[in-house]
This record gives sequence, C-alpha cells and structure tokens, in this order.
Amino acid sequence: MKTYGALEAGGTKMVLAALDETGRFLARKSLPTRTPEETMPEMIAFFREQDVSALGIGSFGPLQLNPAAPDYGAITATPKLAWRNYPLLRRFEEALGVPVGIDTDVNAAAMAEAALGAARGLDNCLYVTVGTGVGGGLVIAGKPVHGLIHPEIGHIPVRPEPGDPMPEGVCPSHGSCLEGMASGPSIGRRWGCPAQELPPDHPAWALEAAYLAQLCATALLAFSPEKIILGGGVMQQTALFPLIRAKTAALLNGYLVHPAIQSGMEDLIVPPALSPDSGILGSWLIAKESA
Ligand code: ADP
Ligand code: ZN
Repeated sequence: MKTYGALEAGGTKMVLAALDETGRFLARKSLPTRTPEETMPEMIAFFREQDVSALGIGSFGPLQLNPAAPDYGAITATPKLAWRNYPLLRRFEEALGVPVGIDTDVNAAAMAEAALGAARGLDNCLYVTVGTGVGGGLVIAGKPVHGLIHPEIGHIPVRPEPGDPMPEGVCPSHGSCLEGMASGPSIGRRWGCPAQELPPDHPAWALEAAYLAQLCATALLAFSPEKIILGGGVMQQTALFPLIRAKTAALLNGYLVHPAIQSGMEDLIVPPALSPDSGILGSWLIAKESA
C-alpha cells in the first residue's frame, strides 16, 4: 500500500504525518517553525524516512497557487520574513522527487471537512479558523476556491459594534478588519487578558459573536455555503455558537429563506468534526490528488 506525506505548515508549528491510502496515520511529528534553513532539512528527512509516494501541503499564506506562475507553490507576502518568497513546493519536489500538491491551510481543512467531516456529502462549505489570525477556506462545487489569488476572508471589513472599547482593531494591514477585531490576540488586547482566561459571562463573548455573525451573514449572502464550520482556539468557547447563530439571524432579518436558516442554523453554523486533524487530513487529500 502506498504511503502519503501530509504537511500542515503553520506560522508557529509544522505538523507532519505519513498516512496510508485509507487515511490511517502511520507516523506523525510536530516541530516549531523556525527559518527554512533550520526547519526544511528536518521535514525532508521525515518524509524520506517514511518513503512517501506523494506529498500534500496545506500552508499558511499568502501562497502563489497559479500553476502557470514560475513561483507556483511559493509562500509570497508573509510577514514571517524568513519565509517570504520561499519556494516551498519546489524545494520539496527537488528534495523528495515525488509529486507535491499545495493549497492554503484553510482550504485543506475545508476540503477535509467536506470530504470526511462536518460538511460530508455537501458540495459547498466555508471553513474558518479563529485563532492567532482569522482565515477561511472555501469549497464551492466540490473544489477549493483559488480565483485571482485565494480568498482571505479573515480580512473582510466589518462594521464596528456599538460600545466596542477597541474600535480601531489590531490588524497591522487594516486595523479594524475581521481579524483585527475578532482574532484571539485582538480579544486579549481589548480586554487586557488572554482570551482563554475571560469568564463565560464576560461581555467579550457577545462582542466576539457579533463580529463572527457579520462574517457568517456576509458568507451566506456572498457564497451560499451549505455549512459554515468555525474552528480554531477561540471557538473552543462553544457558548459562542448559539450567540453567533442568533446574531446572524438578526443580521439577515429573514431575507434568506431556507429551512436551514429559519430553523435556527444549528446544523448550518457548526464546529469542525475532524478537529484537530482537519488541516492534516486535508493535506493528505491533496497528496492523494497530486499522486
Ligand atoms: P493558531 O491560530 O496559532 O494556529 P489557535 O487556533 O490555538 O492557534 O489559536 C490561538 C489563539 O486562540 C490565541 O490567541 C488564544 O488566546 C486563543 N485561544 C486558545 N484557547 C482558547 C480558549 N479556550 N478560549 C478562547 N480563546 C482561546
Ligand atoms: Zn486585516
């Protein structure tokens, strides 16, 4: 049986795995993301040892995903300077001599949730991680959306909520975009306390739900996904889900008519089913596709 390599390349850690054709994990390893010079040799050694016949990568971005571009598969304008313009896909191709496929970390997670998880059997879903940053992967008609570059739904403009004590936001590029208002670090900055230490009755959560509801309403209006899957560290606050659904309904105000919306969105806005493996399983799917 063939062995597939899967890499979930994150800004703080790299998750590596070898899986068989059925998606069974044969080996896995996690290492901190340092510079390419420090991190790449260790990753290459792992995939060589596992004798993978193809590699799939779900990576932090932004990425060059146009197959016709000379820098296809490179990490482009990342604020992580050591990785800026790093030809991630080409380096692995050269080192391993096997087919390598790549997509954004969040498109990978969205594909895995669509194939095997919360959106199984559906053709259209949005996967959003709310963590250190906010990122979204979009599967439409069974395919991850790339388009001009790839969606960056974490950075959509949002309306400041009335009474928000930090309306200026924290995104280095946009200030008060969704990530600037709703990422884990933005919550920490606004309330002067790490998000995970805020009590359940803190006003932070109603405000967080309001911003994520703006995202959900925008997504339902723009893409009509059949599932919106919200994951990442901040969504470990599962009490956010009912708040987000109610505020999304209030924003839509009855405009979108569908039982999945009118019945309260309990099956429409949901947590991931594969967490914490959505990303790495998506990379495995990419490996299988590129083989
Ligand atoms: P990353 O986005 O770096 O991959 P995470 O998805 O774990 O990692 O997100 C980390 C962020 O999530 C941090 O800003 C942290 O404050 C926040 N976070 C982690 N756990 C919780 C929790 N239980 N409740 C609320 N926020 C959390
Ligand atoms: Zn932004």
